[in-house]
Amino acid sequence: MNGMLSGTAVVTGAGSGIGRATAVMLGARGAAVAAVDLDEAAARQTAELVAKNGARSVAFRADVSRAAELDRAVDAAVAALGPLEMMVNNAGILDGYFNVDETDEAVWRRVIDIDLTGVFLGCKRALREMLPRGRGRIVNMASVAGLNGTGGGAAYVAAKHGVVGLTRQMAVVYSARGITINAVCPGPILTGLRQHSQTILGAGVPDMTGRGIAVNDEQVRAVVPAGRRGTVEDIASAVCFLVSDDAAYMSGHTLVVDGGWRAK
Ligand code: NAD
Repeated sequence: MNGMLSGTAVVTGAGSGIGRATAVMLGARGAAVAAVDLDEAAARQTAELVAKNGARSVAFRADVSRAAELDRAVDAAVAALGPLEMMVNNAGILDGYFNVDETDEAVWRRVIDIDLTGVFLGCKRALREMLPRGRGRIVNMASVAGLNGTGGGAAYVAAKHGVVGLTRQMAVVYSARGITINAVCPGPILTGLRQHSQTILGAGVPDMTGRGIAVNDEQVRAVVPAGRRGTVEDIASAVCFLVSDDAAYMSGHTLVVDGGWRAK
């Protein structure tokens, strides 16, 4: 039990926020890290940060909702760094907190495509590496919105509930084959999620500014017992725990990291 890691980790959505912090922390603990993101320059910056700590690191552009792109990135990661031990399906976007009657079908489909289908595709690709070797760790980034009917709009809450369901179904099937599959459920974390989501969803999507339940410090204090947002490192350390030997007997778990929000 020393918290050190070995082998290759692929982190999606590694160009920013939670994914970047996770990539850096995995590297600092001994993993070789492939940073994958829609934004290639951002992924490259993350790989540079990982390398600064002395870890091997590469970066690839891929849209996680496109199987061919994600497959190519994982192929390249394994070719460059060696067998895949850890897959962190973290890439995601927010839906602007829009309810069903306000949600455009195209926005619904894009959010489900990235937040749920992207995780499915990441799991599927990871299994292709892990099943033959009889070992591996998969961590899927869900949310408190994957457990409660809040924390996002209809598409985001549905997608994150889907991620939790997928994680549990996979744990039932694959835990006997040497693979653990867990989800992390963050509460409000200070990142660029809202702005990035607005950009990725593109023109025509209503302005997300000011929508939601934790848009300012006062609202966060009202929602979160800890009275503050979490940090990206709070979430990265949960991921590092789940991929470590210390969590060898954990599978199908939803690790809530939310300053007490869900306890209410
Ligand atoms: P972020 O916007 O800082 O980082 C997300 C990264 O994912 C970005 O670099 C973005 O370019 C990338 N990305 C988006 N769509 C992609 C796609 N199709 N293919 C590849 N990359 C893509 O946001 P974050 O807060 O770090 O979010 C990371 C994950 O954490 C998301 O799944 C999010 O739903 C989840 N989460 C965040 C919070 C929070 O409060 N920030 C809370 C709960 C869950």
